[in-house]
Amino acid sequence: MDKTPVLLYTKNSLYSFLGLNYMKNLFKNFFWYFLIFLILASIFSSVASRPKTETASIGFLVERINQGEVTDINVSGDELSVSLKDGSKKVIKKESSESLSALLKNFNVEPDKLSAINIQVKDQSSFGGWMIDMLPILLPVILIGVFFFITMRGVASANSRAMTFGQSQAKEFQKDPKAKVSFKDVAGSKEAKEELKEIVEFLRFPKKFHDLGARIPKGVLLLGSPGTGKTLMARSVAGEANVPFFHISGSEFVEMFVGVGASRVRSLFQRAKKNTPCIIFIDEIDAVGRRRGAGLGGSHDEREQTLNQILVEMDGFEPTANVIVIAATNRPDVLDPALLRPGRFDRQVVLDLPDIKDRQEILAVHAHRKPLAKEVDLKLIAERTPGFSGADLENVLNEAAILAARKNQKQVEKADILESIEKVMMGPERKSRIITEEEKKITAYHEAGHAIVAHFLPQTDPVHKISIIARGQAGGYTLKLPTEDRKLHRRSEFIEELSVLLAGHLTEKMTFGEVTTGATSDLRRATSLARSLITDYGMSEVLGPRTYGEKEEMIFLGREIHEQRDYSEKVAEQIDLEISDLIKQATVKAREIIHDRQPEIDKVVQALLEKETLEKADFEAIVGPKPKK
Ligand code: ADP
Ligand code: MG
Ligand code: ZN
Repeated sequence: MDKTPVLLYTKNSLYSFLGLNYMKNLFKNFFWYFLIFLILASIFSSVASRPKTETASIGFLVERINQGEVTDINVSGDELSVSLKDGSKKVIKKESSESLSALLKNFNVEPDKLSAINIQVKDQSSFGGWMIDMLPILLPVILIGVFFFITMRGVASANSRAMTFGQSQAKEFQKDPKAKVSFKDVAGSKEAKEELKEIVEFLRFPKKFHDLGARIPKGVLLLGSPGTGKTLMARSVAGEANVPFFHISGSEFVEMFVGVGASRVRSLFQRAKKNTPCIIFIDEIDAVGRRRGAGLGGSHDEREQTLNQILVEMDGFEPTANVIVIAATNRPDVLDPALLRPGRFDRQVVLDLPDIKDRQEILAVHAHRKPLAKEVDLKLIAERTPGFSGADLENVLNEAAILAARKNQKQVEKADILESIEKVMMGPERKSRIITEEEKKITAYHEAGHAIVAHFLPQTDPVHKISIIARGQAGGYTLKLPTEDRKLHRRSEFIEELSVLLAGHLTEKMTFGEVTTGATSDLRRATSLARSLITDYGMSEVLGPRTYGEKEEMIFLGREIHEQRDYSEKVAEQIDLEISDLIKQATVKAREIIHDRQPEIDKVVQALLEKETLEKADFEAIVGPKPKK
């Protein structure tokens, strides 16, 4: 049975629900102003109120004058302050229409008694007196005025922001010589640089190309995984060509209001046309350039309009305009085909993850300003970092420098770099995590299982390190590194990889008779690898060389990858059977090795429990060198 949902609107959520955060602020401000006002008013009234003296009647005054008791009378408006001979003071009110002398005459005061009294008349209309009377009225008025002035100013600035809303917020570089980069700052990526050198030529010597009737490309699309240096590369092109560079991110076009993106595109291109020759750089263009008409939900109108405007602007400028649009994305597969046709982003430059040589060069670029110890060999670090992007490598060196600084070293040492590589790969070590002796033993067997199976299978990468210290999400880890960068992999290699993935789980089972929860991520990876073998790589004997399933991204309530089935129920069943079969094959192989190498496993476990971490040399001292293929 369904429960009726209960909606609770607390004060906070109601305000934000209505989008009235601004009002909330206003009320908060008002509260403070009110408080300040109260405090000021109370201070003021305590200061301004005159010292309380006793009041008396006019009859009393006349009587005292006749007795000769009065020394001074101060007249201030209709108030008389009277000082008596005995030192006491009285305040007496009179009618404001009547003067003191007339009053006293009416009461038949003896004139000779009067002449003995020192009478002073204070000017009632003096500024001080006026202020004192007016302030209690003026102060709240002034405070309210100030309050309104401040809130109105806030509203006015919000208004003026709204007026410039549709303008592009592109940042122009190049004005600042320090931000300038050139091809020298981009290591590796030789082919990409060659390709982009052409663009630099176009920008520098447009006439050369126009004279031959060549059409200068309008758009260049940089493709590559995150951190491969796309943004850096675009900036270096601008630096090389020495032209203005307008940088905007695709997401900056996307706003809450329809039409803003398109208007920003228009204003961006207008600005660019005033500054020719120049480069417009649209980073992360997939934020606006997605295939139109796909997906669910209503947010697409805005993106489509923005994209249309980009297309219109790119078609719109004359071939002689010398504006080149560079865009970057890591998702070329989701881009709208209209963006890619000739005349728009017809040049596509791919930035790959760096290979070992490029990694070494990138490290050299970033090691430039860091004092490295002599023993540090950048080649070795490049070997240890397969699959790292340029950004990862920069991060490794930076982490190493931080580590060295924390240890008060003068130089960055090899150990710091090796440590930071593992940190970047798997997250920081968590030495403080308390684990029981039993957990430690289970982890040791699990990792030893991975390591032994990886070691004795012919095609797997050699083991570099085994550790039972928790790191990031993992309770322990076995690190194996490829001897060379390769792009192609054989089916048999994948099956061996599966065996290694399953080995941890199997060793636990064979040693302790049951398994723990520690192998979840191994099993998940094994399953998805087996599925890829069948559905993506066509490596299944039974199902043959074809792919299964169309992967497509649907944006609906956030991000979601949706797989569209292009096969029948029957095939789905076969795929499941094949996955199980592959896993079974891998298990048999792994079990064989674990069974045969029990003494070695025990020795590795022993060493792990003692030292917690085994390097390649320690490990091979126990099990011997990795058998050759
Ligand atoms: P992307 O835009 O592709 O995600 P970036 O251009 O922002 O990547 O790169 C991030 C950082 O990584 C750069 O600032 C740079 O320091 C470093 N980097 C990436 N590739 C290279 C490279 N080929 N040479 C030197 N540094 C690089
Ligand atoms: Mg980028
Ligand atoms: Zn494992």
